[in-house]
Amino acid sequence: MNEYRICRRCIMDTSDPEIVFDEDGICNHCKKADRLLHSEPFSLHGEEKEKRIQELAAKIKEKSKGKKYDCIIGVSGGADSTYAAYLVKKIGLNPLAVHLDNGWDSRLAVTNIEKTLKILGIDLYTFVIDWEEFRDLQLSFLKASTPDSEVPSDHAISAILYRMAEKYGIQYILAGTNISSESILPAAWSHGHSDWKYIHSIQKRFGTARLKTFPYFTLLQLFRYIVIKKIKFISILNYTDYVKEEAIKILERELGWESYGGKHHESKYTQFYQAYILLRKFGFDKRKAHLSSLIMAGQMTRDEALEEMKKELYPVEKLREDREYVINKFAITEQEFDRIMNLPQRKFSDYPSYESSFYYKALMSIYRFLGKFGMRKIDF
Ligand SMILES: [Zn+2]
Repeated sequence: MNEYRICRRCIMDTSDPEIVFDEDGICNHCKKADRLLHSEPFSLHGEEKEKRIQELAAKIKEKSKGKKYDCIIGVSGGADSTYAAYLVKKIGLNPLAVHLDNGWDSRLAVTNIEKTLKILGIDLYTFVIDWEEFRDLQLSFLKASTPDSEVPSDHAISAILYRMAEKYGIQYILAGTNISSESILPAAWSHGHSDWKYIHSIQKRFGTARLKTFPYFTLLQLFRYIVIKKIKFISILNYTDYVKEEAIKILERELGWESYGGKHHESKYTQFYQAYILLRKFGFDKRKAHLSSLIMAGQMTRDEALEEMKKELYPVEKLREDREYVINKFAITEQEFDRIMNLPQRKFSDYPSYESSFYYKALMSIYRFLGKFGMRKIDF
C-alpha cells in the first residue's frame, strides 16, 4: 500500500493514484499548472491582454461575416459560463447560447439562464435530452463503476456545441473553462469525455435501452469538426483577469444572477456525483483540484486552502435528501442503488475505448502532424 503524501506547494495528494512528486516534494500538477499559467493570453496583463481580446473579437467577426451569429457559447447557468456570456457581449460579439437540458437542472439554474441571457440580448437554443435514454445511460455508468459518471453529460454538451457550430457555419465555440480556477484536474478522476467508443461500450454492456437520440460524436466526426471545419474551442476567460468572486459580484449586480452556494451546484446530479459518488465511493475530492488551481493562480494561499478543506463538503442532511431525490428520479429501489454503489471500483482502462485502439493512435499522429502547421492541441 502506498503511503499518504501531499504536495508541498498545492494541496494535491495521493488520492490521485497517478500523482508524481519531484525531489523537492512538488507534484506533477503544479508543473503542468505552471506551464499553463505562463502561456498566452493568460500570462499577459493590462493593456496587452485587452489588446489580445479585441484582436480575437475582430478575427471572429471577420470570419463570421454574413452569418446570423458569430460564435457559440455553452451555458449551464453557473458563474463561469454566465460570465463568459457577459464578456462575449462586452467585446461586441453576437453569440448563440447553447444549453443541454439533461433533466437535472436546478430550478435556479433555469431562472439564471433565462434572466441573464434576456438582459444580455442573447438567443438561446436548448437541447432537451430524451430522459428515458439518458436515465438508462447514466445508470449504465454507475453500474460500470468508474469515476466517469459525468462523462455522458459532458460528451452530449460538446456534441451539441459542435452540431450547432456546424449548422450555422461558425468556427468559434467560446467556453467558460479557465486556467485560473481549473488548471489542475487529474485524469484518473475523470476520463474519456470525447471518447464515444468508451460511452457506447458501457451502454452496450450495462444498458437496457438503445441510444437513438443521444447527441454524440465519433472520433472521425471530431477529427472532421476540428481539422476540416476548423471549429475551435477557446477559453475566453483566459483573455481576461478572471477572479470568480469579482465576476459573481458583477453578475449579481448587472444581470440579477443568483448564487448556488457551491461550484457546479447548478446541476442536481453534478453536486450529488461530486459529493456522494466521487468522494464517498472513490475518495476523490474535487475541491482539492479546484483549490490547488487557485493556489497556483495566486488567488489563495496553501494555508487558506487547507483550512477550506476542513469544512464539510456537503451537509449530511442535504446529502440524504439528494440521495433520495436521485434514487426516485432514476426510478430504482434503494437496495438497487446501494448494490450499485457497493460494486468494486473500476477504471477507464477496464473498458474498450478509442484511446486503446490503433485507429486512435493513427488519427492522433495525423493530428499532431497537422499541429505543426498551427492547429491547436486538443486534450482528449
Ligand atoms: Zn502540487
